[in-house]
Amino acid sequence: MKQGRIIIVSGPSGVGKGTVLKEVMKNNPALRFSVSATTRKIRPGEIDGVHYYYIDKPRFEKMLENHEMLEHAEYAGNYYGTPEKAVNDALAQGISVVLEIEVQGALQVMLRRPDAISIFIAPPSYNELGRRLNGRGDTPPDVAAERLHIAVQECLNAPKYQYTIINDTVSEAAAQIQAILTAEACRSEYTTIQLKEDE
Ligand code: ADP
Ligand code: 5GP
Repeated sequence: MKQGRIIIVSGPSGVGKGTVLKEVMKNNPALRFSVSATTRKIRPGEIDGVHYYYIDKPRFEKMLENHEMLEHAEYAGNYYGTPEKAVNDALAQGISVVLEIEVQGALQVMLRRPDAISIFIAPPSYNELGRRLNGRGDTPPDVAAERLHIAVQECLNAPKYQYTIINDTVSEAAAQIQAILTAEACRSEYTTIQLKEDE
């Protein structure tokens, strides 16, 4: 059985992580998306248990206390975290898991799980990121301005990731992630050669 891998995907809010990952997951149905817990309010169109588990702050803190999170971070005034059990269960079945998380959490996972694949998605330019954030229609201008401000700091952390992708077009970015996944699956330490003759 092939070993499951953790695939960390980070990048500023609005860069297109969700859009690109949707394309990648469509072409890789065996990949599993890790559903995070968050204290932020649900957005129109989002579904509890699909996009996030929407929980309150005391519940989130309880999960932290019980060591139920693989990583967590505070981002723009809300908590976000990856429930660890679901990740471990998938890996134990040989299923690779995509964590779409921000930089502070990604750095925690890189330390705790050094075999994780880490990918940073960057925008083609600052102005284009602003256009995408504001064009999404679900982010008020003051929230978008705060996220744009955080984005600069996030991009400065890109060199800490194994791979950086510029999301110019969705199809190109998805193809680049596919190329990374294909190459990673061929790494010698994850490949078993059958040396015995067929029975
Ligand atoms: P994130 O998940 O990183 O917050 P989204 O996937 O929600 O970002 O994308 C933010 C907005 O940018 C959406 O309106 C999406 O359609 C648009 N978008 C994503 N990728 C591209 C791209 N390569 N070119 C133009 N617009 C894009
Ligand atoms: P949003 O509110 O736009 O859904 O997410 C805000 C930021 O939090 C994004 O950068 C997103 O990738 C990140 N995020 C989502 N889930 C998690 C998580 O479980 N942990 C961490 N550290 N960040 C997360």
